[in-house]
Amino acid sequence: MIHVQEVATVDWLNEAKKNVLSTAVRPEIIMERGEGMHIWDTCGNKYLDFVGGWAVNCLGHSPQVLQQALANQAGTLVHASPAYYNKPMLEFSAQLTEVSGMDRVFFASSGSEANESAIKLARKHGAVHLNGAYEIITLQGSFHGRTLATMSATGKQHWKPLYAPKVDGFRHVPINDLDACFAAVNNNTCAIMVEPVQGEGGVHPLDEAYLYGLRKICDMYGMLLIFDEIQTGMGRTGKLFAYEHSGIKPDIITLGKGIGGGFPLSAMLTLEKHNLFQPGEQGGTYCAQPLAMAAGLAVLQELLKRNLSANAAAQGHYLIRRLTELSSELPIRNIRGQGLLIAFDLPEGMAPVVTGLCMDKGLLLNAPSPSTIRLMPPLIVKEAHIDEMLAIASDAMNEAASHVG
Ligand SMILES: *Cc1c(COP(=O)(O)O)cnc(C)c1O
Repeated sequence: MIHVQEVATVDWLNEAKKNVLSTAVRPEIIMERGEGMHIWDTCGNKYLDFVGGWAVNCLGHSPQVLQQALANQAGTLVHASPAYYNKPMLEFSAQLTEVSGMDRVFFASSGSEANESAIKLARKHGAVHLNGAYEIITLQGSFHGRTLATMSATGKQHWKPLYAPKVDGFRHVPINDLDACFAAVNNNTCAIMVEPVQGEGGVHPLDEAYLYGLRKICDMYGMLLIFDEIQTGMGRTGKLFAYEHSGIKPDIITLGKGIGGGFPLSAMLTLEKHNLFQPGEQGGTYCAQPLAMAAGLAVLQELLKRNLSANAAAQGHYLIRRLTELSSELPIRNIRGQGLLIAFDLPEGMAPVVTGLCMDKGLLLNAPSPSTIRLMPPLIVKEAHIDEMLAIASDAMNEAASHVG
């Protein structure tokens, strides 16, 4: 029998990396501890975190309210089975439907599952109301998850040949092109699914007029409009939900990432008229389980109490202003985004060099493509953190410019 070392040394941990299935190119460092805007590795190096657990740690690392909610709930009831209601499930359902302007919620553990649920509900809608229509229109460059159906919904070009055959029933159209979307509608279409701001695709906001047009197309044909707000929801864009910027309301909203503040949790919200699943048609072992519900409730209450969506809006404005100033002396181009979901472009190939140099200097940044830097810090970020981040990133960009040439 192999024993895990009681006090794991850095050497032992490094050796243990060979046990992890290769699915990602990870840097050598090993994360150990987090607090607020910072995370520490096993060598004691401290990093200012502008990746934020991949737009997840909205309250920062290990926030008190989450620690307490999880500890209290763990001492009361960890899991009750999906066959029963539980108390935090009902408390959280009531609050989340109220603040989102929706009527009904289904909980799961990952964003992909929430989107699977939305896809199933749209197909059910097609079966009940649209003569069996099942096709869903999604956008080129979109990201909707990593289950087989959500990968099929995703509009990433280089995923096309992966894991064939894909799930049938998705049509991809170019972003912000209403005519192209209109042309893709046929008798088989049951829904349109979009991210209000494409996140993984490199931070591309959808135009207000485009969203308005999508709503009209859906109304015209009785189709559902699905907003994948897994990245944009829970205050990220400066409002609690990105749809609130648009002046229209979707039929389904999916949430993930920030909703659990780091605890695995996701949700699909919809309106009473789409309460269409028959018992047994959708579910899951961990759906609405008490620990996750307690975490979600604590995170939502803290977001509201501290008005962190307003902070996201204010800090986002500050960040864009400072980036714009810096663009006169650095090769920063196409600054874009909303709230604290922001990106800018650098010369091709420079972005991963910059994120690597930043890591050495104690700053975590994300490069979703070789020419793009994305910023998605916790919503508790302050101007001083942004100043510190930009000072380090500016040094890194100057250094990288000499590498890349
Ligand atoms: C992250 C993300 C997903 C997938 O969520 P997982 O929790 O990784 O399954 C889906 N849609 C969007 C917009 C996302 O950003």
